[in-house]
Order: sequence, then structure tokens, then C-alpha cells
Amino acid sequence: MPLWLTLVLVVVIGAGIVVVIAVAGSRAGQRHGYSGMSGETVVRCSRGHLFTTVWIPGSSFKAVRLGYQRYQRCPVCGKWRMVEPVADAELTDDDRRTAAEHHTGRLP
Ligand SMILES: [Zn+2]
Repeated sequence: MPLWLTLVLVVVIGAGIVVVIAVAGSRAGQRHGYSGMSGETVVRCSRGHLFTTVWIPGSSFKAVRLGYQRYQRCPVCGKWRMVEPVADAELTDDDRRTAAEHHTGRLP
């Protein structure tokens, strides 16, 4: 098998695995009441600040993933903190409004 074909197969299989992990993770999150999985998600830092971030299970470029939590910069306090998604049932309208005012950008 030529080297280029091997590389193409590795890239395609790797991309497929990432997509499967992202889809399975987002479905699991939605079953637990986190509607924003695979998109904009309201999260809470370890100090209680609410903000919105792009949360795609299995992929992140601006955070360190630690199970169902992440270590990433909180845009409210400006510090790197443990962050976890907040279930929709726990959010009030004021919480959603506050979270919408603080967004980390489009990069997961
Ligand atoms: Zn914070």
C-alpha cells in the first residue's frame, strides 16, 4: 500500500473517531439536561461565575479536559478555573442573561 494512501486512511479514520466521540458525548450530555452540548453551553467556574462557551465533547483547543469538567479561563474573573456545564433546569432567566453577557468565543 502506498504511503499516501496509508496517511489518507489514518486521517479519515481519526476524523471519524473524533466525530463519533463528539456525537456520543453530546447525546449523553443532552440526556443529563445540558441542552447546549456540541454548541454554546452555559458553564459555571469554580467560583460560581456563569458564562457561555463552545463545548464539544471530545474536542477542545482552549481548555484542558478533565472528565466532565474542564480547566479553562473564566471570562468573568479572568482566572483559569475548573469549569463544568450547568443543567438547563438549574438556570433562571437572570442566569441565562448573565451567561450570555460573558462569552469565550467561537473556538471549542
Ligand atoms: Zn470565574
